[in-house]
This record gives sequence, structure tokens and C-alpha cells, in this order.
Amino acid sequence: MYSGAGDSEFSFELSVCRWAELAWHPVAGDRPAVVARQLGTRERRWDTVVLEVDPGAFAARRRLGERGLDRDLLRVVRGAPADYEWYRDALDDPGFPWRYVREAVHRAADRGLVETRTGANGRVEFRRQPEDPPYPDWVERVVVVENKPDLDASAASALAGQLRHDVDAGFADEVWLATGATGRRVSPALLEDTPVEAGVLEFDFSAGVDAGAAEVVWGPARLDADADPDRRLELAERAYGTGWRDFRETMRPDCRSFSLRRAGRALLPHCGAKGRHQTAAECSGSCRQFAPEPPGWRVGGWPVEGGPGKGVRALLARRRERERDRAAADGGAGDAGESAAGRSD
Ligand code: SF4
Repeated sequence: MYSGAGDSEFSFELSVCRWAELAWHPVAGDRPAVVARQLGTRERRWDTVVLEVDPGAFAARRRLGERGLDRDLLRVVRGAPADYEWYRDALDDPGFPWRYVREAVHRAADRGLVETRTGANGRVEFRRQPEDPPYPDWVERVVVVENKPDLDASAASALAGQLRHDVDAGFADEVWLATGATGRRVSPALLEDTPVEAGVLEFDFSAGVDAGAAEVVWGPARLDADADPDRRLELAERAYGTGWRDFRETMRPDCRSFSLRRAGRALLPHCGAKGRHQTAAECSGSCRQFAPEPPGWRVGGWPVEGGPGKGVRALLARRRERERDRAAADGGAGDAGESAAGRSD
């Protein structure tokens, strides 16, 4: 069993995500990054996704809002001209009925991403916002991490095939396996079938999450990421939109037993009723121990307008924005410019 906050893969996963914000890149030194969890393609889902970003371009991307852009919106926003044009002239033939594109143009306008007007013959014309530059090339590298806190022989064997797929798929620039420290070094025998191109990180979160919690057991190879760049960008947009603190939307911070507990420089969900870090799956509407926060907690602005549940969500959203600020300002990894004790999560 790995040592750290809680003993679930979920807690481990959140800890790895937070560590990545604090310490990316583990070999090459500070690189501005955006971290997300549980994202993937139709074929594969990754525990942790790290996007290395160009700070200036990332700042330009943020001007388009805090939500991610789906495939249809990306088509519209990336193809938006500086001056008004009929959408069918401005965009490439999508290969499916244009009415779907028109609907996406309106959706983009509703989100303030583009401006529209009715042109000659009732045609829908659009352009990007006058103050906006073209959609920026903000993603430099896509890195995927498979988390396995308790690596035993059968887990290692099962993971080998998945990691081989990740290495060969051409989707990621770098692939890592993250495992928990068990008091003794990861046995080379366990890694025998692991592709040599995949890096291996060993984490010790027994003293909480901080930048020094990881040890590089094996360095990764730089991969030839030759997969469809549009699919990589779609994944990046989803990663940008959700981040890794999205558990605030799926778990029940409005339960009176829910709290965020400090684990070093991370804040992890904790359940008072269970007396431990709960998993995302059990902290749901079907939890038998769920008890709504008393109405009295929601008045008087305690501790934030709307009660503790809303306060937790707002706090985590602010943390996400702070990390985005850092990446856009070229602050590099989360430790840059701050004392080690200066902040949590
Ligand atoms: S009692 Fe259930 S719903 Fe409430 S915090 Fe614990 S796990 Fe979540």
C-alpha cells in the first residue's frame, strides 16, 4: 500500500495532479503547464494529462473564456475571419451538412467567441471579435501519465500493454507511469515489460504533496507525436476546460460531512462521516450517509455567500484560475517565485 493521504487511487491521482502543477517538468526543469485528469480518446483514457503551454499563446487562449471549446466550436473559432464573411466561404467544407456548422456559429456567438450578422440574402456572416487575435497555437506538448499507486506484478503486466499503446499511438509527446513509494525501490522486475520509452515516477506523499514528492526512476523518451493534430487540440481544450479540480462538480461538497483537508500543499476531499478521504464514486447523490448542509449554514454569508458547499466549489475554481495565471505568466512550475511554505493547493 502506498503511503499518503487516504489509500485510494483517487487520492493518489489528485496528489499527482497537484504535484505536476508544483514541479513540472521532473527532468527538464520548470515548464508552464496545465494539468487535467481522466481525459482521453475513444480508445484510451488517461489518469493525468499535462499540457505544456506557450505562456503568451496560453494567455491569448484564456481571452476566449474559461470553458473548453468542443470540436464544432474549434472549427468556427479557428476559422473565424477578421472581417465579416459568409460562414460557408470562411470555413472548409466540413463533410457533413452545413446547417450543423451554422448552429455552431450561433453557439460561438452566444458565448461571445465570434460576432455574427445577417448579410445579403439572409446569409449568416461572422467574424472573430475585433479585439481578438486568431486562435493561438498554445499547446506545446501533450504528456500523459498512468497512475498506479500500488504496483504489483499483475498490475505491471496489465499496464505494460496500455503503456505500449500510449507510446505507439503518436498522441502524446511523452508517457509516464506514476507509482507510489512502498518503502523500497520499484523492483526492476516489475518494470521488465514496461516500454523503455515510458518514464517512471515514484511518489512518496507520506508527508503530503510537495514539489519534492517524486523521484524519477526512469526518464522518458521524446516521442514522435504524429497523431491528428486536431484531435490533440480537442483533448487539450477539454483539459483546459475541466482541469483536475472538476471533482468539485461531481462530488458532494454540499454534504455536511464534506471538507477539504490539507495534505502538504494539496487540498484533498475528506469525509467526516467516513473518517477518511472518500473516493469520487462514493461521494455522490447515492451515498447513504449524505446529509445536506443545514439551512443555517447558508445564511449570513458563512463562510462564503451560499454556504460551505458553494464555498468549496468557489475555492477550487479560484485555485484553478491561479494556476492558469501562473502558466500564462511564464511562472513555470508552481514553486517558482514563492516560498515552499507559502501556499497550499
Ligand atoms: S457522507 Fe457521503 S456524500 Fe457526504 S461527504 Fe461523505 S462520502 Fe460524500
